[in-house]
Amino acid sequence: MSVTGPRLQPTIFELGRDGRGGGKIPHPPADALDRLPADARRSRPPAIPAMNEPDVVRHYVNLSQLNFAVDTGFYPLGSCTMKFNPKLNEWAARLSGFADLHPMAPDEVAQGTLELLWELEEALAEISGMQAVTLQPAAGAQGELTGILMIRAYHSERGDTGRTEVLVPDSSHGTNPATASMAGYTTITIPSASDGGVDVDAFTAALGPRTAAVMITNPSTVGLFESRIGELLEAVHAAGALAYMDGANLNAIMGRFKPGEAGFDVMHFNVHKTFSTPHGGGGPGAGPVGVGDHLLPYLPTPRVLRADDGGYRLERPDERPRSIGRMRSFVGNTGVLVRAYAYIRAHGAAGLREVSDDAVLAANYLKHRLADAYDIPFDRPCKHEFVASAATIKRETGVRTLDIAKRLIDFGFHPPTIYFPLIVEEGMLIEPTETESVETLDAFADTLIAIAGEAASDPELVRSAPHTAPVKRLDEATAARHPNLRWRPMAGAETPCPD
Ligand SMILES: *Cc1c(COP(=O)(O)O)cnc(C)c1O
Repeated sequence: MSVTGPRLQPTIFELGRDGRGGGKIPHPPADALDRLPADARRSRPPAIPAMNEPDVVRHYVNLSQLNFAVDTGFYPLGSCTMKFNPKLNEWAARLSGFADLHPMAPDEVAQGTLELLWELEEALAEISGMQAVTLQPAAGAQGELTGILMIRAYHSERGDTGRTEVLVPDSSHGTNPATASMAGYTTITIPSASDGGVDVDAFTAALGPRTAAVMITNPSTVGLFESRIGELLEAVHAAGALAYMDGANLNAIMGRFKPGEAGFDVMHFNVHKTFSTPHGGGGPGAGPVGVGDHLLPYLPTPRVLRADDGGYRLERPDERPRSIGRMRSFVGNTGVLVRAYAYIRAHGAAGLREVSDDAVLAANYLKHRLADAYDIPFDRPCKHEFVASAATIKRETGVRTLDIAKRLIDFGFHPPTIYFPLIVEEGMLIEPTETESVETLDAFADTLIAIAGEAASDPELVRSAPHTAPVKRLDEATAARHPNLRWRPMAGAETPCPD
Protein backbone atom coordinates (compact mmCIF):
# COMPACT_ATOMS: atom_id res chain seq x y z
CA MET A 1 0.00 0.00 0.00
CA SER A 2 1.30 3.44 -0.77
CA VAL A 3 0.00 6.26 1.40
CA THR A 4 -0.76 9.54 -0.29
CA GLY A 5 -2.24 12.75 1.02
CA PRO A 6 -1.59 16.46 0.91
CA ARG A 7 1.88 16.18 2.43
CA LEU A 8 2.52 12.54 1.74
CA GLN A 9 3.98 11.15 -1.42
CA PRO A 10 4.54 7.84 -3.18
CA THR A 11 7.37 5.63 -2.01
CA ILE A 12 10.72 6.02 -3.68
CA PHE A 13 10.13 2.72 -5.51
CA GLU A 14 7.07 4.21 -7.16
CA LEU A 15 8.89 7.44 -8.00
CA GLY A 16 11.85 5.74 -9.72
CA ARG A 17 12.06 5.73 -13.52
CA ASP A 18 14.24 3.32 -15.48
CA GLY A 19 17.28 4.96 -16.98
CA ARG A 20 17.28 7.93 -14.68
CA GLY A 21 19.88 8.28 -11.96
CA GLY A 22 22.56 10.56 -10.69
CA GLY A 23 25.57 8.33 -10.04
CA LYS A 24 28.23 8.82 -12.69
CA ILE A 25 31.84 7.70 -12.68
CA PRO A 26 33.88 10.40 -14.46
CA HIS A 27 35.88 9.16 -17.45
CA PRO A 28 35.77 5.44 -16.67
CA PRO A 29 38.66 3.59 -18.37
CA ALA A 30 37.58 1.31 -21.21
CA ASP A 31 38.55 -1.80 -19.26
CA ALA A 32 36.93 -0.63 -15.98
CA LEU A 33 34.77 -3.71 -15.67
CA ASP A 34 37.64 -6.11 -16.39
CA ARG A 35 39.58 -4.65 -13.50
CA LEU A 36 37.01 -6.02 -11.06
CA PRO A 37 37.41 -9.68 -10.14
CA ALA A 38 34.72 -11.76 -11.86
CA ASP A 39 33.19 -12.95 -8.58
CA ALA A 40 32.71 -9.34 -7.39
CA ARG A 41 30.68 -8.35 -10.46
CA ARG A 42 26.90 -8.32 -10.57
CA SER A 43 25.21 -10.39 -13.22
CA ARG A 44 22.44 -7.79 -13.48
CA PRO A 45 22.06 -4.22 -12.22
CA PRO A 46 20.84 -3.74 -8.63
CA ALA A 47 17.05 -3.46 -8.36
CA ILE A 48 17.00 -0.01 -6.80
CA PRO A 49 14.91 2.96 -7.90
CA ALA A 50 16.60 5.26 -10.43
CA MET A 51 16.06 8.96 -9.75
CA ASN A 52 17.94 12.21 -10.24
CA GLU A 53 19.64 13.60 -7.18
CA PRO A 54 17.40 16.63 -6.45
CA ASP A 55 14.34 14.38 -6.44
CA VAL A 56 16.01 11.95 -4.03
CA VAL A 57 16.97 14.80 -1.69
CA ARG A 58 13.48 16.33 -1.82
CA HIS A 59 11.85 12.97 -1.22
CA TYR A 60 13.74 12.35 2.00
CA VAL A 61 13.72 15.93 3.26
CA ASN A 62 9.95 16.08 2.75
CA LEU A 63 9.51 12.80 4.59
CA SER A 64 11.72 14.05 7.43
CA GLN A 65 9.41 17.05 7.81
CA LEU A 66 6.48 14.77 8.56
CA ASN A 67 8.19 13.84 11.82
CA PHE A 68 7.18 15.54 15.00
CA ALA A 69 10.27 16.32 17.03
CA VAL A 70 11.24 18.16 20.19
CA ASP A 71 13.11 20.49 17.82
CA THR A 72 9.84 21.43 16.11
CA GLY A 73 7.35 21.57 18.97
CA PHE A 74 6.41 20.87 22.58
CA TYR A 75 6.64 17.17 23.37
CA PRO A 76 5.09 16.52 26.81
CA LEU A 77 5.40 12.72 26.75
CA GLY A 78 5.31 11.46 30.34
CA SER A 79 7.78 8.83 31.56
CA CYS A 80 10.19 9.73 28.76
CA THR A 81 11.77 13.08 29.66
CA MET A 82 11.65 14.55 26.17
CA LYS A 83 13.75 17.57 27.04
CA PHE A 84 15.45 19.84 24.59
CA ASN A 85 18.95 18.47 24.03
CA PRO A 86 21.73 21.04 23.84
CA LYS A 87 23.26 21.04 20.37
CA LEU A 88 26.69 21.44 21.95
CA ASN A 89 26.46 17.83 23.08
CA GLU A 90 25.81 16.71 19.52
CA TRP A 91 29.02 18.51 18.52
CA ALA A 92 30.92 16.80 21.34
CA ALA A 93 29.73 13.33 20.36
CA ARG A 94 30.83 13.95 16.76
CA LEU A 95 34.39 14.98 17.64
CA SER A 96 36.50 12.67 15.55
CA GLY A 97 38.56 11.47 18.53
CA PHE A 98 35.35 9.87 19.84
CA ALA A 99 33.33 9.22 16.70
CA ASP A 100 36.13 7.75 14.57
CA LEU A 101 37.79 5.65 17.26
CA HIS A 102 37.77 1.99 16.24
CA PRO A 103 36.01 -0.15 18.87
CA MET A 104 38.94 -2.59 18.80
CA ALA A 105 41.52 0.17 19.25
CA PRO A 106 44.15 -0.81 21.83
CA ASP A 107 43.86 0.96 25.19
CA GLU A 108 46.99 3.05 24.52
CA VAL A 109 45.30 4.92 21.66
CA ALA A 110 41.90 5.17 23.37
CA GLN A 111 43.04 6.99 26.52
CA GLY A 112 40.79 10.03 26.00
CA THR A 113 37.63 7.96 25.59
CA LEU A 114 38.53 5.67 28.48
CA GLU A 115 39.17 8.67 30.72
CA LEU A 116 35.79 10.16 29.78
CA LEU A 117 34.02 6.87 30.52
CA TRP A 118 35.81 6.51 33.85
CA GLU A 119 34.90 10.05 34.87
CA LEU A 120 31.29 9.53 33.78
CA GLU A 121 31.08 6.43 35.99
CA GLU A 122 32.38 8.53 38.90
CA ALA A 123 29.88 11.31 38.20
CA LEU A 124 26.91 8.93 38.01
CA ALA A 125 28.04 7.24 41.23
CA GLU A 126 28.14 10.66 42.91
CA ILE A 127 24.71 11.68 41.58
CA SER A 128 23.10 8.40 42.68
CA GLY A 129 24.99 7.66 45.88
CA MET A 130 25.95 4.27 44.47
CA GLN A 131 29.42 2.74 44.94
CA ALA A 132 30.21 1.98 41.31
CA VAL A 133 28.62 2.15 37.88
CA THR A 134 28.77 0.12 34.67
CA LEU A 135 28.12 2.02 31.44
CA GLN A 136 27.63 -1.08 29.32
CA PRO A 137 23.84 -1.62 29.04
CA ALA A 138 22.33 -0.31 25.81
CA ALA A 139 19.19 1.19 27.38
CA GLY A 140 17.16 1.31 30.56
CA ALA A 141 15.48 -2.01 29.85
CA GLN A 142 18.83 -3.75 29.47
CA GLY A 143 20.06 -1.96 32.57
CA GLU A 144 17.17 -3.55 34.48
CA LEU A 145 18.20 -6.99 33.24
CA THR A 146 21.81 -6.28 34.20
CA GLY A 147 20.74 -5.26 37.70
CA ILE A 148 18.44 -8.22 38.27
CA LEU A 149 21.08 -10.66 36.96
CA MET A 150 23.52 -9.22 39.51
CA ILE A 151 20.91 -9.70 42.23
CA ARG A 152 20.45 -13.30 41.06
CA ALA A 153 24.22 -13.87 41.19
CA TYR A 154 24.32 -12.40 44.71
CA HIS A 155 21.62 -14.72 46.08
CA SER A 156 22.95 -17.73 44.26
CA GLU A 157 26.51 -17.24 45.52
CA ARG A 158 25.18 -17.16 49.06
CA GLY A 159 23.38 -20.44 48.44
CA ASP A 160 20.09 -18.60 48.92
CA THR A 161 18.34 -20.42 46.09
CA GLY A 162 14.75 -20.41 47.33
CA ARG A 163 14.19 -16.84 46.14
CA THR A 164 12.09 -17.03 42.98
CA GLU A 165 9.93 -13.90 43.08
CA VAL A 166 10.30 -10.26 42.15
CA LEU A 167 7.72 -7.80 43.49
CA VAL A 168 6.65 -5.00 41.16
CA PRO A 169 3.95 -2.32 41.67
CA ASP A 170 1.08 -2.29 39.16
CA SER A 171 2.04 1.23 38.06
CA SER A 172 5.46 0.06 36.86
CA HIS A 173 6.75 0.29 33.31
CA GLY A 174 6.22 -2.93 31.34
CA THR A 175 9.98 -3.45 31.20
CA ASN A 176 10.03 -4.26 34.95
CA PRO A 177 7.96 -7.47 34.84
CA ALA A 178 9.58 -8.34 31.49
CA THR A 179 13.00 -8.06 33.12
CA ALA A 180 11.99 -10.26 36.04
CA SER A 181 10.74 -12.94 33.63
CA MET A 182 13.83 -12.78 31.45
CA ALA A 183 15.98 -13.31 34.52
CA GLY A 184 13.94 -16.42 35.39
CA TYR A 185 11.82 -14.94 38.18
CA THR A 186 8.09 -14.91 38.78
CA THR A 187 6.63 -11.40 38.87
CA ILE A 188 4.27 -10.63 41.74
CA THR A 189 2.24 -7.50 40.96
CA ILE A 190 1.34 -5.33 43.95
CA PRO A 191 -1.65 -2.95 43.58
CA SER A 192 -0.99 0.75 44.18
CA ALA A 193 -2.36 2.59 47.20
CA SER A 194 -5.23 5.01 46.66
CA ASP A 195 -2.86 8.01 46.78
CA GLY A 196 -1.05 6.62 43.71
CA GLY A 197 2.02 5.55 45.69
CA VAL A 198 3.40 2.13 46.46
CA ASP A 199 1.17 0.31 48.93
CA VAL A 200 3.87 -0.26 51.53
CA ASP A 201 1.64 -2.53 53.62
CA ALA A 202 0.76 -4.75 50.65
CA PHE A 203 4.44 -4.90 49.70
CA THR A 204 5.50 -5.78 53.22
CA ALA A 205 2.85 -8.50 53.39
CA ALA A 206 4.11 -10.03 50.12
CA LEU A 207 7.77 -9.99 51.18
CA GLY A 208 9.24 -13.24 52.39
CA PRO A 209 11.86 -15.95 51.94
CA ARG A 210 10.83 -16.34 48.30
CA THR A 211 11.43 -12.66 47.46
CA ALA A 212 14.62 -12.05 45.49
CA ALA A 213 14.02 -8.36 44.80
CA VAL A 214 11.54 -5.53 44.61
CA MET A 215 11.59 -3.08 41.70
CA ILE A 216 10.48 0.46 42.54
CA THR A 217 10.26 3.51 40.31
CA ASN A 218 10.86 6.66 42.37
CA PRO A 219 9.37 9.13 41.70
CA SER A 220 6.69 6.74 40.50
CA THR A 221 5.18 6.60 37.03
CA VAL A 222 2.39 8.91 38.22
CA GLY A 223 5.02 11.49 39.17
CA LEU A 224 4.83 11.09 42.95
CA PHE A 225 7.71 10.71 45.34
CA GLU A 226 7.36 7.58 47.48
CA SER A 227 6.90 9.15 50.89
CA ARG A 228 7.37 5.86 52.78
CA ILE A 229 10.40 4.69 50.82
CA GLY A 230 12.68 4.36 53.88
CA GLU A 231 10.21 2.11 55.64
CA LEU A 232 9.78 -0.05 52.54
CA LEU A 233 13.54 -0.46 51.98
CA GLU A 234 14.00 -1.51 55.60
CA ALA A 235 11.34 -4.20 55.22
CA VAL A 236 12.91 -5.42 51.97
CA HIS A 237 16.31 -5.87 53.57
CA ALA A 238 14.85 -7.43 56.71
CA ALA A 239 13.32 -10.07 54.42
CA GLY A 240 16.75 -10.78 52.89
CA ALA A 241 15.71 -9.35 49.50
CA LEU A 242 17.37 -6.57 47.52
CA ALA A 243 15.88 -3.33 46.21
CA TYR A 244 16.12 -2.26 42.57
CA MET A 245 15.35 1.32 41.63
CA ASP A 246 14.08 2.10 38.14
CA GLY A 247 15.82 5.44 37.61
CA ALA A 248 13.87 6.58 34.54
CA ASN A 249 12.53 9.51 36.55
CA LEU A 250 15.88 10.74 37.82
CA ASN A 251 15.23 14.06 36.07
CA ALA A 252 13.05 14.97 39.05
CA ILE A 253 15.40 14.31 41.95
CA MET A 254 18.98 15.21 41.11
CA GLY A 255 20.71 16.87 44.03
CA ARG A 256 17.69 16.13 46.22
CA PHE A 257 17.58 12.35 46.65
CA LYS A 258 20.38 9.80 46.31
CA PRO A 259 18.94 6.30 45.89
CA GLY A 260 22.18 4.63 47.06
CA GLU A 261 22.18 6.58 50.32
CA ALA A 262 18.49 5.86 50.84
CA GLY A 263 19.24 2.11 50.74
CA PHE A 264 18.59 0.99 47.17
CA ASP A 265 21.04 -1.77 46.21
CA VAL A 266 21.03 -1.20 42.46
CA MET A 267 19.52 1.22 39.95
CA HIS A 268 19.68 2.12 36.28
CA PHE A 269 19.98 5.53 34.67
CA ASN A 270 18.33 6.29 31.34
CA VAL A 271 21.00 8.76 30.33
CA HIS A 272 19.10 9.51 27.11
CA LYS A 273 16.23 10.78 29.26
CA THR A 274 18.04 12.59 32.05
CA PHE A 275 21.31 13.72 30.49
CA SER A 276 20.45 14.55 26.85
CA THR A 277 20.53 12.55 23.59
CA PRO A 278 17.53 12.83 21.28
CA HIS A 279 15.59 9.58 21.62
CA GLY A 280 12.20 10.00 20.00
CA GLY A 281 12.76 7.46 17.27
CA GLY A 282 13.48 4.58 19.61
CA GLY A 283 17.16 5.04 20.23
CA PRO A 284 20.03 4.92 20.62
CA GLY A 285 20.19 5.16 24.38
CA ALA A 286 22.32 3.97 27.24
CA GLY A 287 21.31 2.43 30.55
CA PRO A 288 24.21 2.57 33.00
CA VAL A 289 23.68 0.69 36.25
CA GLY A 290 24.91 1.71 39.70
CA VAL A 291 25.42 -0.77 42.53
CA GLY A 292 26.13 -0.78 46.24
CA ASP A 293 29.17 -2.49 47.80
CA HIS A 294 27.80 -6.02 47.99
CA LEU A 295 27.02 -6.16 44.25
CA LEU A 296 30.41 -4.79 43.10
CA PRO A 297 31.91 -8.21 42.29
CA TYR A 298 29.12 -8.98 39.82
CA LEU A 299 29.37 -5.87 37.61
CA PRO A 300 29.60 -6.72 33.91
CA THR A 301 33.03 -7.02 32.41
CA PRO A 302 35.09 -5.26 31.11
CA ARG A 303 35.24 -2.37 33.55
CA VAL A 304 37.34 0.70 32.82
CA LEU A 305 40.25 0.71 35.28
CA ARG A 306 42.59 3.52 36.26
CA ALA A 307 46.18 2.59 37.02
CA ASP A 308 48.32 4.28 39.66
CA ASP A 309 50.16 6.21 36.94
CA GLY A 310 46.88 7.81 35.84
CA GLY A 311 46.54 5.70 32.67
CA TYR A 312 43.34 3.82 31.81
CA ARG A 313 42.73 0.30 30.57
CA LEU A 314 39.90 -2.15 30.04
CA GLU A 315 39.68 -5.10 32.37
CA ARG A 316 40.79 -8.44 30.87
CA PRO A 317 37.97 -11.00 30.38
CA ASP A 318 39.28 -13.36 33.11
CA GLU A 319 40.22 -10.70 35.62
CA ARG A 320 37.05 -10.79 37.74
CA PRO A 321 35.58 -14.31 37.72
CA ARG A 322 32.45 -13.41 39.73
CA SER A 323 31.29 -10.91 37.09
CA ILE A 324 27.96 -11.71 35.39
CA GLY A 325 29.93 -11.33 32.13
CA ARG A 326 29.27 -9.15 29.16
CA MET A 327 25.89 -7.47 28.53
CA ARG A 328 26.80 -5.75 25.30
CA SER A 329 29.62 -5.52 22.79
CA PHE A 330 32.59 -3.28 23.61
CA VAL A 331 31.98 -0.62 26.29
CA GLY A 332 28.42 0.50 25.50
CA ASN A 333 26.85 3.18 23.30
CA THR A 334 29.79 5.55 23.55
CA GLY A 335 28.22 8.38 21.53
CA VAL A 336 25.33 8.59 23.97
CA LEU A 337 27.74 8.44 26.92
CA VAL A 338 29.79 11.34 25.53
CA ARG A 339 26.61 13.45 25.40
CA ALA A 340 25.78 12.49 29.00
CA TYR A 341 29.28 13.46 30.12
CA ALA A 342 29.07 16.79 28.30
CA TYR A 343 25.65 17.49 29.84
CA ILE A 344 26.77 16.68 33.39
CA ARG A 345 30.00 18.68 33.11
CA ALA A 346 28.21 21.67 31.60
CA HIS A 347 25.67 21.79 34.43
CA GLY A 348 27.77 20.83 37.44
CA ALA A 349 26.20 19.82 40.76
CA ALA A 350 24.28 23.06 41.28
CA GLY A 351 23.07 23.08 37.68
CA LEU A 352 21.72 19.53 37.88
CA ARG A 353 19.81 20.36 41.02
CA GLU A 354 18.34 23.36 39.23
CA VAL A 355 17.32 21.13 36.31
CA SER A 356 15.30 18.95 38.69
CA ASP A 357 13.82 21.87 40.59
CA ASP A 358 12.72 23.57 37.37
CA ALA A 359 11.25 20.34 35.97
CA VAL A 360 9.22 19.90 39.17
CA LEU A 361 8.11 23.54 39.12
CA ALA A 362 6.98 23.30 35.47
CA ALA A 363 4.96 20.15 36.14
CA ASN A 364 3.23 21.60 39.18
CA TYR A 365 2.45 24.81 37.30
CA LEU A 366 0.86 22.91 34.43
CA LYS A 367 -1.07 20.64 36.78
CA HIS A 368 -2.44 23.67 38.58
CA ARG A 369 -3.47 25.33 35.30
CA LEU A 370 -5.41 22.25 34.15
CA ALA A 371 -7.13 21.51 37.43
CA ASP A 372 -10.43 23.22 36.53
CA ALA A 373 -10.84 21.52 33.16
CA TYR A 374 -9.59 17.99 33.92
CA ASP A 375 -9.66 15.55 36.80
CA ILE A 376 -6.43 15.46 38.77
CA PRO A 377 -6.55 12.06 40.47
CA PHE A 378 -3.67 12.48 42.93
CA ASP A 379 -3.97 15.76 44.68
CA ARG A 380 -0.57 16.30 46.20
CA PRO A 381 2.44 18.14 44.79
CA CYS A 382 3.92 16.15 41.92
CA LYS A 383 7.50 15.75 40.85
CA HIS A 384 8.45 16.15 37.16
CA GLU A 385 5.20 14.76 35.72
CA PHE A 386 1.57 14.32 36.70
CA VAL A 387 -1.55 12.49 35.67
CA ALA A 388 -4.63 14.33 34.43
CA SER A 389 -7.75 12.41 33.50
CA ALA A 390 -10.66 12.93 31.11
CA ALA A 391 -12.91 10.54 33.06
CA THR A 392 -15.49 13.25 33.84
CA ILE A 393 -15.34 14.65 30.29
CA LYS A 394 -15.96 11.14 28.95
CA ARG A 395 -18.92 10.60 31.24
CA GLU A 396 -20.49 13.93 30.29
CA THR A 397 -19.67 14.15 26.57
CA GLY A 398 -18.46 10.76 25.34
CA VAL A 399 -15.12 12.30 24.35
CA ARG A 400 -12.19 10.13 25.45
CA THR A 401 -8.56 10.81 26.26
CA LEU A 402 -7.56 9.33 22.89
CA ASP A 403 -9.75 11.92 21.11
CA ILE A 404 -8.22 14.77 23.10
CA ALA A 405 -4.72 13.51 22.28
CA LYS A 406 -5.60 13.42 18.57
CA ARG A 407 -7.13 16.91 18.72
CA LEU A 408 -3.90 18.31 20.23
CA ILE A 409 -2.14 17.40 16.97
CA ASP A 410 -4.31 19.96 15.14
CA PHE A 411 -2.80 22.66 17.35
CA GLY A 412 0.80 21.60 16.72
CA PHE A 413 1.42 19.83 20.02
CA HIS A 414 2.64 16.29 20.47
CA PRO A 415 0.12 14.47 22.68
CA PRO A 416 1.21 13.43 26.16
CA THR A 417 1.49 9.76 27.11
CA ILE A 418 -2.03 8.34 27.31
CA TYR A 419 -3.48 5.32 29.11
CA PHE A 420 -0.21 4.78 31.02
CA PRO A 421 0.09 3.88 33.76
CA LEU A 422 -2.99 1.72 33.52
CA ILE A 423 -4.12 2.49 37.05
CA VAL A 424 -5.82 5.77 36.08
CA GLU A 425 -9.04 5.76 34.04
CA GLU A 426 -8.73 7.91 30.88
CA GLY A 427 -5.34 9.08 32.13
CA MET A 428 -2.76 11.25 30.44
CA LEU A 429 0.74 11.45 31.84
CA ILE A 430 2.15 14.91 31.20
CA GLU A 431 5.84 15.80 31.59
CA PRO A 432 6.77 19.32 30.52
CA THR A 433 10.49 19.14 31.54
CA GLU A 434 12.67 22.01 32.69
CA THR A 435 13.53 23.25 29.23
CA GLU A 436 10.16 24.80 28.29
CA SER A 437 9.27 28.47 28.72
CA VAL A 438 6.24 29.59 30.68
CA GLU A 439 4.75 30.87 27.38
CA THR A 440 4.92 27.35 25.91
CA LEU A 441 3.39 25.86 29.06
CA ASP A 442 0.58 28.42 28.94
CA ALA A 443 -0.08 27.80 25.26
CA PHE A 444 -0.33 24.07 25.93
CA ALA A 445 -2.61 24.56 28.95
CA ASP A 446 -4.83 27.01 27.03
CA THR A 447 -5.17 24.48 24.22
CA LEU A 448 -6.07 21.58 26.52
CA ILE A 449 -8.64 23.80 28.26
CA ALA A 450 -10.06 24.86 24.89
CA ILE A 451 -10.35 21.21 23.81
CA ALA A 452 -12.23 20.40 27.02
CA GLY A 453 -14.63 23.22 25.98
CA GLU A 454 -14.97 21.75 22.48
CA ALA A 455 -15.77 18.36 24.00
CA ALA A 456 -18.81 19.99 25.61
CA SER A 457 -19.90 22.19 22.69
CA ASP A 458 -18.97 20.09 19.64
CA PRO A 459 -17.91 16.60 20.70
CA GLU A 460 -17.85 15.30 17.12
CA LEU A 461 -15.13 17.83 16.23
CA VAL A 462 -12.88 16.26 18.87
CA ARG A 463 -13.90 12.68 18.16
CA SER A 464 -13.00 12.99 14.47
CA ALA A 465 -9.63 14.73 15.04
CA PRO A 466 -6.98 15.13 13.81
CA HIS A 467 -8.20 17.31 10.96
CA THR A 468 -4.90 18.77 9.80
CA ALA A 469 -2.54 15.78 10.00
CA PRO A 470 -1.43 13.97 6.83
CA VAL A 471 -3.02 10.76 8.08
CA LYS A 472 -6.08 10.48 10.32
CA ARG A 473 -6.84 7.74 12.83
CA LEU A 474 -4.85 4.62 12.17
CA ASP A 475 -5.98 1.11 12.92
CA GLU A 476 -3.45 0.65 15.68
CA ALA A 477 -4.59 -2.84 16.68
CA THR A 478 -4.12 -4.21 13.15
CA ALA A 479 -0.83 -2.34 12.80
CA ALA A 480 0.46 -4.02 15.97
CA ARG A 481 -0.89 -7.49 15.20
CA HIS A 482 -0.11 -7.63 11.49
CA PRO A 483 2.78 -5.22 10.98
CA ASN A 484 3.43 -4.54 7.31
CA LEU A 485 6.87 -3.07 7.30
CA ARG A 486 7.94 -3.13 3.67
CA TRP A 487 6.51 -1.91 0.43
CA ARG A 488 5.20 -4.44 -2.02
CA PRO A 489 4.22 -3.66 -5.58
CA MET A 490 0.57 -3.68 -6.58
CA ALA A 491 -0.60 -7.04 -7.88
CA GLY A 492 0.71 -7.65 -11.40
CA ALA A 493 3.47 -5.03 -11.25
CA GLU A 494 7.08 -6.13 -11.47
CA THR A 495 8.97 -5.84 -8.22
CA PRO A 496 11.84 -3.40 -8.34
CA CYS A 497 13.34 -4.80 -5.17
CA PRO A 498 14.22 -8.49 -4.87
CA ASP A 499 12.65 -10.54 -2.10
C1 LIG B 1 11.74 4.55 29.69
C2 LIG B 1 11.47 3.71 30.87
C3 LIG B 1 12.04 2.42 30.99
C4 LIG B 1 12.80 1.73 29.87
O1 LIG B 1 13.93 2.41 29.49
P1 LIG B 1 14.52 2.35 27.99
O2 LIG B 1 15.74 3.17 28.08
O3 LIG B 1 13.47 2.88 27.08
O4 LIG B 1 14.82 0.90 27.71
C5 LIG B 1 11.83 1.74 32.18
N1 LIG B 1 11.07 2.26 33.17
C6 LIG B 1 10.50 3.48 33.07
C7 LIG B 1 9.68 4.01 34.22
C8 LIG B 1 10.66 4.24 31.91
O5 LIG B 1 10.08 5.44 31.81
